Amino acid sequence: MAAVPTNDGATLVLAYFPQARFDEVRADVQRAHLDQVRTTAPSLFDRVQAGRRVEALRGTGDQQNFFRQATGPGWALVGDAGHHKDSITARGISDAFSQAESLVRHVGDGLADPARLETALRRYADDRDESLVEGYRATLATAQLETPETRLSLLRAVQSDPELTAIYFDMVAGVEPARALYTPKLLALL
Ligand SMILES: Cc1cc2nc3c(=O)[nH]c(=O)nc-3n(C[C@H](O)[C@H](O)[C@H](O)COP(=O)(O)OP(=O)(O)OC[C@H]3O[C@@H](n4cnc5c(N)ncnc54)[C@H](O)[C@@H]3O)c2cc1C
Repeated sequence: MAAVPTNDGATLVLAYFPQARFDEVRADVQRAHLDQVRTTAPSLFDRVQAGRRVEALRGTGDQQNFFRQATGPGWALVGDAGHHKDSITARGISDAFSQAESLVRHVGDGLADPARLETALRRYADDRDESLVEGYRATLATAQLETPETRLSLLRAVQSDPELTAIYFDMVAGVEPARALYTPKLLALL
């Protein structure tokens, strides 16, 4: 569950379910969504009950996870076209921008030189895979929607401290690597 402030003072209340339940959830989406809010985030449920729905609920049951070949002779893929992962960790936009930036940095002014271009595209492809694989693995783990006790303890410790909370969200957004979270302060709280 998450509640995200959006345009015109509205709040996006989003819920994730196992993809295998898509048809069941879609059959009565309003009920499934409210049940999920109530059981997972009761304080948010109270806010939702007091509010007014301003749009129809939207959902997808087709969240794919893949790396495609990033480049070939004279072409390159950036963003979701080349690499897609479950939206649960909300990294797709940042990752698409970082790929575009990396591609431009590698190609530079070498577009007209086939040998330089080939090298640049190969390096872009290698960098893409290397820089995205950690976030990809983390996303696949999160998308399992399992919350073992170790993860709950970690989240409780993070929640108790504003500095750790800020690092945590930077980590989720891909701004910081996972190891940045494991500060002495966090280790003392665990
Ligand atoms: C439910 C959900 C929530 C998400 N939440 C977040 C989030 O909070 N933060 C985050 O960073 N990411 C989030 N993402 C992921 C993010 O939306 C994508 O990773 C990002 O939009 C990818 O950008 P893109 O430009 O590669 O592709 P897209 O945004 O898909 O853009 C591709 C565009 O190309 C157009 N197109 C396709 N084929 C053609 C054609 N033949 N000719 C012309 N145009 C064409 C499409 O219409 C589309 O406009 C979310 C995704 C989903 C599904």
